Formats: sequence, C-alpha cells, structure tokens
Amino acid sequence: MLHQLTISELTGKLTRREVTACEAMEACLSQIEKTDARLHAFLSVDKNDALAQAAQADAAIQAGASFAEQPLLGIPIAVKDVIAVKNQPLNCGSKILGKYISPFDATVVAKMRAAGAIVFGRLNMDEFAMGSSTENSAFGASRNPWDTDRTPGGSSGGSAVAVAADECLAALGSDTGGSIRQPAALCGIVGLKPTYGRVSRYGLVAYASSLDQIGPMGKCVADTAILLRAIGGRDPLDATSVDEPVPDYAKSLGQSVKGAKIGLPKEYLGGGLDPEIGQAVQAAVRQLESLGAEVREISLPHTEYAIATYYIIATAEASANLARFDGVRYGARVDGGDPIELYRKTRGAGFGPEVKRRIILGTYVLSTGYYDAYYLRAQKVRTLIRQDFLNAFKEVDAIVTPTTPTAAFKLGEKSQDPLQMYLNDIFTISCNLAGICGISVPCGFTKYPHLPIGLQLLGKPFGEETLLRLAHAYEQSTPWHRERPPLQR
Ligand code: GLN
Repeated sequence: MLHQLTISELTGKLTRREVTACEAMEACLSQIEKTDARLHAFLSVDKNDALAQAAQADAAIQAGASFAEQPLLGIPIAVKDVIAVKNQPLNCGSKILGKYISPFDATVVAKMRAAGAIVFGRLNMDEFAMGSSTENSAFGASRNPWDTDRTPGGSSGGSAVAVAADECLAALGSDTGGSIRQPAALCGIVGLKPTYGRVSRYGLVAYASSLDQIGPMGKCVADTAILLRAIGGRDPLDATSVDEPVPDYAKSLGQSVKGAKIGLPKEYLGGGLDPEIGQAVQAAVRQLESLGAEVREISLPHTEYAIATYYIIATAEASANLARFDGVRYGARVDGGDPIELYRKTRGAGFGPEVKRRIILGTYVLSTGYYDAYYLRAQKVRTLIRQDFLNAFKEVDAIVTPTTPTAAFKLGEKSQDPLQMYLNDIFTISCNLAGICGISVPCGFTKYPHLPIGLQLLGKPFGEETLLRLAHAYEQSTPWHRERPPLQR
C-alpha cells in the first residue's frame, strides 16, 4: 500500500519506476476518503491540484529528473493550516480569516516544491496554534487514530493524525511550545522542532514570534531528516533565519552513537508524570546505554518556572501579532458602523474563547504598571532557563526526557480547565524558551488502553544532526515506530 510507505521507501519505488507519483497520491487520497470523516485531520483537500502536481512529478521523472537534486520528488506532503500555500485557503483553524485564500507560498512550501514534493491539503489545528488538543479549532477537533475518543494532541494535531493514519507520507507542523512534539508523541510518530532560526518562517502566520518554528513530522526519523534538509536554511525574507550551513542530515544517520553523552534532567521525572511514561523513558535510557551512549543525571534548576514564563511571553507576543486581524485588511468582517465597532464586532465574532483569553492575558502583562512585574520579569527568567540548557550542553551532547506527562487524554477531559491543558506542555516548552532543538520519537505504549508514548531528545542550538543520529539509532533498535494504529487498516 503506497500511502503506508516512508519517504525513502516511496523514493526507491519511484526511482526504479515500479510505481508513479500519481498512484502514490491516489493512494493517499483514497485513504483520506476512507478514514478522514472519522479522524478529521484535514480541513480541505484540493484533489485536482494534488493530482496535477503528481502528474507533473511523473513527467519530471520520465524526463530523467535527478532524485539527488530533488529528494522529495513525487512525495505527497500535507501542511498545517497556519502555513501559506498559494491559491489555497489559509484559516489557522479560525473563523476570523473567513474565505481568505493565500496569494503566495511560504518559503518552506516553495522549498518543498523545489525539492519536487506534492504539497497538498490543509491540516486541522488549534485556533492560531493555541492549544494542546485541536479542540480549539473553529472547525471541530481531530481524533486520535489509536483511540478515536481521545485527542491527538495539538496544536499540530491534524498533521500528526494525517501522518499516523497514512493519509500522507509526511507533514509540516509548527511548534511554539510543543505543538509538533506533543501531538507526535500522542499519535506515535516522529516530530522535530528545529532550532530557532533554522527554518524560515516567511508565510507562517505568527503566534509568538520569539518562539515559533516550523518543523517536519514523519513516520520515522529518517523522513524528518530528509524534510528538514529540504526546508532549512537562511531566507532573505525572514530576518530571524540564520545563515548556518544545512547538513545532509540523512547521511549521518546510521553512524554509531558510542560515547555520546546524554543528560537525564532530574527535574523532569517527578511531578505529574504518569508512572508508565516514566518507566518507558527509563527503559529508553537503558536502550541508549546499550547502544554505547553514556547517560548521566543533570539539573535544569529553573524548570519549574517554564510554564509561567511561557504563558506570559507567548500571550504578550500573541496579543500584538493578532492585532492585525481586525476585519479591515482581510478575512471575515462584521460591519459595525464606525471603525471601532467594526473591530469589536469582527474580533468578537471571529476569535474563539481561548484566543480571546490569550489576547486579554497578553495585553494585561504588557500594560503600564504590570509590564515590569510580568513581561520583563518573564524575559529575565527566560534567560535563566536558556542558561540552564547552555550549561548542561557543556557536559552533554543531548538531553533525554519524556515528551508529555501522560499519553493521549480523552476529548473533553481538559477542555474546561485551561490550566490542566497548559500543564500538558510541561516538558516541551523549555526547548522553545531556550531556542534549542528537540525531537519526539515513539518509545513504547501504555498497557491499557494501548496508546503511544513519546521520548524527547533535546539538542544544542543547530545541533539537529546529533539529535537525529541519536533518535535514529534508538528508533532502529526498537520496534515501536513499526506499529500502526488500528483505524488505518
Ligand atoms: N500548547 C501550547 C500553547 O497552547 C503550545 C502551542 C504551540 O506550540 N503552538 O501555546
């Protein structure tokens, strides 16, 4: 079944002319047809456009295009609804953008196209990437393919579901506080948040600009390596992207991890951690040791302040970024007579409750009198958190933690209690605050119900190569990534 293949498996078949890109695309479309009414990973799929792109890829292959130059040639890749794709809707999981159609491609989309990919579909997400379950989507939640009464996580929940249920070969997500890694963990796939500056954000609708990154989500570590290479690098259209060389990540996979030094932060193994997750992580640590890594305990002393710091900085930045959705320039509009009423009514009707909560919180922490007490202080604590990591990385090459405190929770279980929802990000947000990179790989299952568990590896700034090598070595020596969710059969 072509939709079930990994990127390198499909590339192999395309290279040998055993299959066509059109067949692969059709396989994904029919899988979507079969499963997505239940899972709701996609907000929209433009079938004709997808098949036209596939036909173009086939023509290129016929004409002798080079797979070395176009490593994603003929590969169907779907995109989170916060990344601009030319002539496709862009809603960010919100009603406020109305019938907006993007007039341009995000840089990551342009780069994937240049690498030959078939870029198709709009993937469901929490409104403006605010949430951990996709329940904040204005278009209804996505469901976890391992248990459809449970959430796939968020905010890139649609991306994780689509990959886990073989509705596409791989997907892009965005991660501000865990939105790639947390849903990857909850759906049993691999998700990578690159270092701040690694990937251009031109065409990514901003949530919290000092934290947001776009990253790959795939069925195996190698696929995320291929995808990161394709999308990474300095972009003149994004001043925060950094001019660091982008290595051929896939090449270094398979090298030994003997002697790699890995830190296990003591602060990450207590608190609300489900004992079954703790055991799976301990077992993963032993596995890494058996591969030759040296694991030692480390300390990240400011960890306890991460959630509070994040929810001040992220909401402050969101309140500024979301000011542009005012009903004047684009998207939905509710007329109100005078301009102020127009803004008020448009924003009142267009934004969902979580987005409103965050805008109010963000404006509050930035307001005169509270700025020093909240925002400025949060920025100082953020520096301490980053320093914790940089100190740790003087001693270790990577840090290992659980990705989430629990496996997938039930739909509705936390949606009435924002704090409980925020606490789900406890192991993922520090990575964004510190600006470093992180990956989640499958590391086991809970017993009953049978749900995937994610292992998080955190790496130095621009240390994705080491991270991918370690994650790949672990993955290839364990069976977890090979198990598929029941719904997909
Ligand atoms: N769950 C976190 C939030 O709601 C992280 C979201 C994200 O990474 N986009 O802000």
